[in-house]
Amino acid sequence: MEKKKIDWSSIGFGYVQTDYRYVANYKNGAWDEGGLTTDANITMNECACVLQYAQTVFEGMKAYTTADGRTVCFRPDLNAERMMDSCRRMRMPVFPKERFLDAIRQTVKANEAWVPPYGSGASLYLRPYMFGSDPIIGVKPANEFQFRVFGTPVGPYFKGGIKPLTIRVSDLDRAAPRGTGHIKAGLNYAMSLYNIVDAHEQGYDENLYVDSATRTHIEETGGANIVFVTGEGKLVVPKSDTILPSITRRSLIQVARDYLGLEVEERVVGIDELGNFAEAGLCGTAAVISPVGKIVDHGEEYTYAGMGSVIGKLYHTLTGIQMGTTPAPEGWIMVID
Ligand SMILES: *Cc1c(COP(=O)(O)O)cnc(C)c1O
Repeated sequence: MEKKKIDWSSIGFGYVQTDYRYVANYKNGAWDEGGLTTDANITMNECACVLQYAQTVFEGMKAYTTADGRTVCFRPDLNAERMMDSCRRMRMPVFPKERFLDAIRQTVKANEAWVPPYGSGASLYLRPYMFGSDPIIGVKPANEFQFRVFGTPVGPYFKGGIKPLTIRVSDLDRAAPRGTGHIKAGLNYAMSLYNIVDAHEQGYDENLYVDSATRTHIEETGGANIVFVTGEGKLVVPKSDTILPSITRRSLIQVARDYLGLEVEERVVGIDELGNFAEAGLCGTAAVISPVGKIVDHGEEYTYAGMGSVIGKLYHTLTGIQMGTTPAPEGWIMVID
């Protein structure tokens, strides 16, 4: 497979149009057979439900090249299941798991020249998503939907070294109790844009959200879950119904227990505990785990070891599993062949 002539180390995290994308349409209560297209544009009615009422959900995952030259995806079955959960909450038809996996396979295979080589640190970011496409003016769900998957190459996350993040405890909320914080819906991001721009203007990398009911518990940032490490090397993972169930976070918990022999505590974490931890990290597909250097809570500053010993071990073990240099648990790696 002849790869595209790209300086993989210099690309960032931005949209680059690749050759093929997968499209399936839902109409009259059924999905059509779907398939690949070279057309990157979508034409729809001005009154499409997604444009008026934001009926849309998405996923994010990566394809990459392993040390032995295979093209693989990491736990795409969990993305398929999470998207089904998101769809149910949004009154959208589910896209069946086997079809989701097939769509991923087809999209990656057709764009294999865009999957960065092993060692580049780059990967092909995959974006499956679905939206209500027919005209809806009274507030109700759409009748017709489109499911798509496209890929875009993204560069190494820690380009130019690892800079520990500085984050602030946010005054605005992300997710309401019994709301939509636990699903991957575009609406959760639309309403976070004001706050992330504000955070950047104030010199912070991210917003750390607390639970909106009591504003006493730590939840997550706008697009990544947070984990903490105690001075004794115990992994402490915030638990809440309004946190998005990160696949990276769930994988790191298993890595911590089974590969590193660490104690893991999944529990409600109080905002008043921020001073009790030695390390903190944000987890998500993009970075796997990025170290937090400082959390600012209205003038109180808490500092943490950057890529400290436990966060560093978690990072290296999980990326080793993904890259095929560390044996993976059964079913974690889907080979594209
Ligand atoms: C996607 C997402 C994450 C990270 O999930 P991964 O499955 O690990 O990529 C975390 N928080 C939010 C709000 C997200 O949307």
